[in-house]
Amino acid sequence: MGSESRKTFLPLDPMSFSNESKAVIDFIADYYENVEKYPVRSTVEPGYLSARLPESAPYCPEPLDDILKDVHDCIIPGLTHWQSPNFFAYFQANASTAGFLGEMLCSGFNVVGFNWVSSPAATELESIVLDWMGKLLQLPSSFLFAGTGGGVLHGSTCEAAVCVLAAARDKALKELGGWENITKLVVYASDQTHFTFQKAAKLVGIPPSNFRFIETSFSTGFSMSPEKVRIAVEDDVKSGLVPLFLCATVGTTPTGAVDPIAGLGKLAVEFKLWLHIDAAYAGSACICPELRHYLDGVELANSISMNPHKWFLTNMDCCCLWIKEPKLLTDSLSTDPEILKNTATKSEAVVDYKDWQIALSRRFRALKLWIVIRRHGLANLMHHIRSDIAMAKRFEEFVRKDRGSRSWCQESSHWFASVVGGIYVIRCAIGATLTQQHHVDALWKLVQEKAHTLLKEREH
Ligand SMILES: *Cc1c(COP(=O)(O)O)cnc(C)c1O
Repeated sequence: MGSESRKTFLPLDPMSFSNESKAVIDFIADYYENVEKYPVRSTVEPGYLSARLPESAPYCPEPLDDILKDVHDCIIPGLTHWQSPNFFAYFQANASTAGFLGEMLCSGFNVVGFNWVSSPAATELESIVLDWMGKLLQLPSSFLFAGTGGGVLHGSTCEAAVCVLAAARDKALKELGGWENITKLVVYASDQTHFTFQKAAKLVGIPPSNFRFIETSFSTGFSMSPEKVRIAVEDDVKSGLVPLFLCATVGTTPTGAVDPIAGLGKLAVEFKLWLHIDAAYAGSACICPELRHYLDGVELANSISMNPHKWFLTNMDCCCLWIKEPKLLTDSLSTDPEILKNTATKSEAVVDYKDWQIALSRRFRALKLWIVIRRHGLANLMHHIRSDIAMAKRFEEFVRKDRGSRSWCQESSHWFASVVGGIYVIRCAIGATLTQQHHVDALWKLVQEKAHTLLKEREH
């Protein structure tokens, strides 16, 4: 008693924190030095890892060196190398030095900014950076805090979709007079819309029989026709149903198609549909003035989301959601037990982001996006987008000029095949942070080689 018992075990000792973090940073730098040498797609078999690691957790602490050795020997071989310059699958997940720095600060402070008082800087920076980002995309001020709308960072588009659908649902149910009317609510999207939307609609209780998938076709570039939506909506109204929500996409997952926002927006206004724009992947491109027209009509939407963690040099995870009437979101999602009340401030005067999302706890993601924007500036961010587009156009030219290679398709370690509208395609998404022109040229060479081999095999 009396003398303070000395803790010998220090999980957060500043000195070892510094040393061990530096070792990990060197390890990651080394990984990036070598990332191009790895096969993009891991060659391991399912279950490979349990054969290499002990069956149970250690009792005694292990040295970092041993752990990093296992990361090198056991984990890296089982990675699909999303940061490889030869990664052309799915959509890119851009990492960048600035994104890393933001992540480090975020986990370094490790604050949990669920409401204003739980970390004022986390809340205020998030609001500021969402206004910055909104301005970079030239969103109308009605989506910004500066114009009484507002934005929030979520981890994913799926979460954003759940939240805006919940807001739209609750607004409609209030007007209709009760929960039993949920079976009347209908949601609309195209057959190219990301499945995340279906998942979100299911989660908020929309009956699957009330999902309408508007058919698209090759001839219209797989974009959603407002006329077809109108027919579906009018049909539903005739049957006594209540059209609730229309999800438009800027940059669909299968082909990068863009739905006509202005046309869909007019329809949404006419039928009082909540229009959400999912610009998860391609939204980043709209910071370039010559590409901004893809968002024309956005002023008619109720909400819009995009993922900086795809094409905006922001490490996972980061999804921006803007909404014109944040009150509808907070009406739907707010919970206010005593312990979470902002005692020092009037709650109405501050943003409590816990009421803009599903979870209570939240990371200080805004640091990351803020640093990404500041370290690159609009100039370099536009350069990043434009050089990726130039590389994609170059690849497009290769394909256009070589009809022979167009008649086949197959999965390989560099790209993934898929079927769109009954047509077999090579889906090639150019835009990994490290990809340069010679990687795209090498990809084309590989495509040609594979095509010629296959054509020869077919001749025999
Ligand atoms: C990637 C993507 C999604 C899914 O995003 P998550 O953040 O993983 O939920 C949804 N819609 C589109 C258009 C996408 O490109």
